[in-house]
Amino acid sequence: MHIFRTASEIRAWSRSCRLNGQRVGLVPTMGALHQGHASLLTQARGECEMVALSIFVNPTQFGPSEDFAKYPRTWEADLEMAAAAGVSAVFAPTPDFYPSGYRTVVTVPGWKSVLEGEIRPDHFDGVTSVVAKLFLSVECDVAVFGQKDAQQALLIRRMVRDLDFGLRLVVAPTVREHDGLALSSRNRYLSSVDRQRALVLSRALAASVAKWRAGEADAQTILAAGRQVLVSDPPDSIDYFTLLDPDSLAILDDAPRLVKPAILVAAARYGSTRLLDNAVLGDVWAQGHLP
Ligand code: AMP
Repeated sequence: MHIFRTASEIRAWSRSCRLNGQRVGLVPTMGALHQGHASLLTQARGECEMVALSIFVNPTQFGPSEDFAKYPRTWEADLEMAAAAGVSAVFAPTPDFYPSGYRTVVTVPGWKSVLEGEIRPDHFDGVTSVVAKLFLSVECDVAVFGQKDAQQALLIRRMVRDLDFGLRLVVAPTVREHDGLALSSRNRYLSSVDRQRALVLSRALAASVAKWRAGEADAQTILAAGRQVLVSDPPDSIDYFTLLDPDSLAILDDAPRLVKPAILVAAARYGSTRLLDNAVLGDVWAQGHLP
């Protein structure tokens, strides 16, 4: 398994793979790998002969009061997991991935005023900018992201289309613990009591999905089923529990009739730990599999 520290090294590697007729799949991460990331690597391995994993705790997507300094860094364990998953190259750029005087920002207008974008100003600019840099460093055929961060996946999908990156985006399902908690590098911050309380998030989403599967199309009724569960064991605070149009990002909470796939997104806090989860109502990602 190669380990590359500079964009030029991994660019040369990915180009030579492709010249040899091997497809390259990229899985971007911030490390602290768990089984959710492993499933993305497996997906990439299924699509491509060569898999590149990027590990970079990207400072520009953290707000000033967020956990950049204490974000978990588990390099040795990450390498073990990468090797076990059949990764061919790890790209772990040094901080000078952003050269001194770096100024350029890739932004998708509109995203900053909705949900995660509104709560975390500059977060999505940080994400799009770093992912654009990764796509220019690792010249890949396929990039795999997790549905776990659905708003991020929608944003990247928009950027890939708008800037014509010429790669296929695959969005892989959320991997959960046996009891339903979505795996996240930040779950380790939860106390055991809060870890147990946090199960209410996936249960609330499941209640709404069950309502929708039973044929309900009224957004308020679908949401009410989930919110009823959520308030039965309320998180310390709820940032949102809402329905989103995956294309326009419009909030659909008052839609009398859902006529196309929608995403139910939730964010809640336990102490200083924010948890995100979501569920899809319909095949939201179908168009994400770009030709
Ligand atoms: P991060 O955890 O921020 O490094 O995320 C790297 C990638 O892994 C992103 O595309 C995430 O959406 C994805 N990911 C994180 N958690 C999960 C999970 N539980 N299941 C599937 N993918 C995940």
